[in-house]
Amino acid sequence: MEYAHFAEEMGKTPLGAEVFNCSAPDTGNMEVFERYGSAAMKETWLKPLLEGEIRSAYLMTEPDVASSDATSIEMSCVRDGDDYVLNGEKYWASGAGDPRCKVYIVMVKTGGEDDPKHQRHSMIVVDAATPGIEILRPMLVFGHDDAPHGHMHIRFTDVRVPAENILVGEGRGFEIAQGRLGPGRIHHCMRSTGQAEAALEQMCKRALSKEAFGKKLAQLGANYDIIAECRMEIEMARLLCLKAAWMMDQGDARAAAPWISQIKVIAPRVSLKVIDEAMQMHGGQGISQDTPLAAAWTAQRTLRFADGPDAVHRRQIARTELK
Ligand SMILES: Cc1cc2nc3c(=O)[nH]c(=O)nc-3n(C[C@H](O)[C@H](O)[C@H](O)COP(=O)(O)OP(=O)(O)OC[C@H]3O[C@@H](n4cnc5c(N)ncnc54)[C@H](O)[C@@H]3O)c2cc1C
Repeated sequence: MEYAHFAEEMGKTPLGAEVFNCSAPDTGNMEVFERYGSAAMKETWLKPLLEGEIRSAYLMTEPDVASSDATSIEMSCVRDGDDYVLNGEKYWASGAGDPRCKVYIVMVKTGGEDDPKHQRHSMIVVDAATPGIEILRPMLVFGHDDAPHGHMHIRFTDVRVPAENILVGEGRGFEIAQGRLGPGRIHHCMRSTGQAEAALEQMCKRALSKEAFGKKLAQLGANYDIIAECRMEIEMARLLCLKAAWMMDQGDARAAAPWISQIKVIAPRVSLKVIDEAMQMHGGQGISQDTPLAAAWTAQRTLRFADGPDAVHRRQIARTELK
């Protein structure tokens, strides 16, 4: 709940999370090291991450499988002596394009068909400089490569990783993913609310500073209604986000999950609507380089995929409701 208010303020500018070293995926990765990492991992990776000296990436999504269903993840991870050997491809690894990115947390398949579905996967910590790792390309987001941050497509060919780098133990990837993605998802939503607030403020300033047909833009057509609707939707989204945060604070991740899913659908939806109306109020300038609105819209649109597409979250909400 406390962090929700900070994240909302940080979300008002694209620099906010970066300035306070609270960017995705670093915050989520720091939490993984803190909760599930060994003392050595904390020394090698968590400390420099907290100091803001290095950055990290989280590699789950793969080009060849529908990664919404994480049980489909295929990257192979086979024990060989004191190492694991990794082969496969990952893409959309946010932050992996940053030259400061030194470590990856990678979701891999260690189990076979005989193991229960949710115990076939593990998470392993991989030094980004390990031989066999090849950055193939940055994934473009609406035509932009998001440099220097970058969402990378990466190939692993016989990448040898010390066996002690596996987090907690083989087959426990889903357990860690639940612990990691819950907070990560809600951080995005908190920032979305801040983004929507900033867009509404820009819309109002523009509506009061420009005139057409002898009146301020605010007084024309349905603009009062548009501004009022945006205010109401932001308030609803913020309260839902705070409720999800409060549920998480109670310590039962399972009970909080449907609330996290609800806000994960609602926050980008509301933010996209408000930004869209703000762009419209700015005329052509709204989609140009003269305002931050176009970049904000793009970032919010990607959030309808990142950390689980809308449909997957709706599935979770409906299943809980039906139970
Ligand atoms: C900008 C950006 C940054 C990202 N950063 C990262 C990152 O750092 N690390 C990482 O690992 N991944 C990252 N991702 C990837 C993201 O998490 C995946 O795109 C997402 O999980 C969906 O997986 P997929 O792309 O394989 O889509 P698919 O699994 O192929 O799903 C495609 C579509 O199928 C439909 N669908 C799926 N399941 C259901 C369902 N149950 N009911 C109805 N319809 C359904 C939905 O319409 C869905 O959008 C990022 C993505 C973007 C766009």
